[in-house]
Amino acid sequence: MARKFFVGGNFKMNGTKESIKSIVKGLNEAQLDSNVEVVIAPPALYLQLARDELTKAGVEVAAQNVYDKPNGAYTGEISVSQLKDLDVHWTILGHSERRTLLKETDEVVASKTKFAVDGGVSVIWCCGESLEEREAGKTVEVVERQLAAVAAKVSAGDWSKIVIAYEPIWAIGTGKVATVQQAQEVHEAIRKWLRANVGEAVADETRILYGGSVNGKNCKDLAKEKDIDGFLVGGASLKPEFVDIINSNL
Ligand code: PGA
Repeated sequence: MARKFFVGGNFKMNGTKESIKSIVKGLNEAQLDSNVEVVIAPPALYLQLARDELTKAGVEVAAQNVYDKPNGAYTGEISVSQLKDLDVHWTILGHSERRTLLKETDEVVASKTKFAVDGGVSVIWCCGESLEEREAGKTVEVVERQLAAVAAKVSAGDWSKIVIAYEPIWAIGTGKVATVQQAQEVHEAIRKWLRANVGEAVADETRILYGGSVNGKNCKDLAKEKDIDGFLVGGASLKPEFVDIINSNL
């Protein structure tokens, strides 16, 4: 089965009412490749605004994080049912900034992933190694450890609601994009791991995105690789070149 190309825009803790309206307006008015699924993740405060302003078919909205408990006494958190109340059916989970700065462990990320998919919210699940881990030759080992934690929690059927984003930490926001070979090599290893540990269909059907300094210039070559099924874009998702990244196969 062909995997539909997927481009996510992770706005991180950026934007104002005005700038988010303007980004969404840009997407509404752009000519986007209809073979691409697009999901933008503004800060939680602006999810409603983005949802209300978006008119473009094929573009959805995602949260950047969600909690793994039903509504209740969890100060500062956002629930899966609240996302659905806002007609938001996607969330990013396990971004390296949350893993490192907010100390989210593999297990916490796995638990949140299970809770989200069970509640009907699809997940852009992030993984990736630090520079130190890459230099120690541990890239695949680290990614496999992260994968094993999530695979232990979710069922084979749940994977249809999960998109994997491989984001080497050293490439995020640094302008230092992974080479096409470096990215393809890890994507291939992830697919191989899924084949061996989850199943053939999940390995064939799960989208694996690359993230880390993707821009309007480097996206085309990366998009040609057989195991790169799209991108998770940070900085460039706030700029007009996000459209070029969405259209990288045209
Ligand atoms: P970047 O961020 O594109 O700014 O490197 C990617 C990400 O963190 O998802």
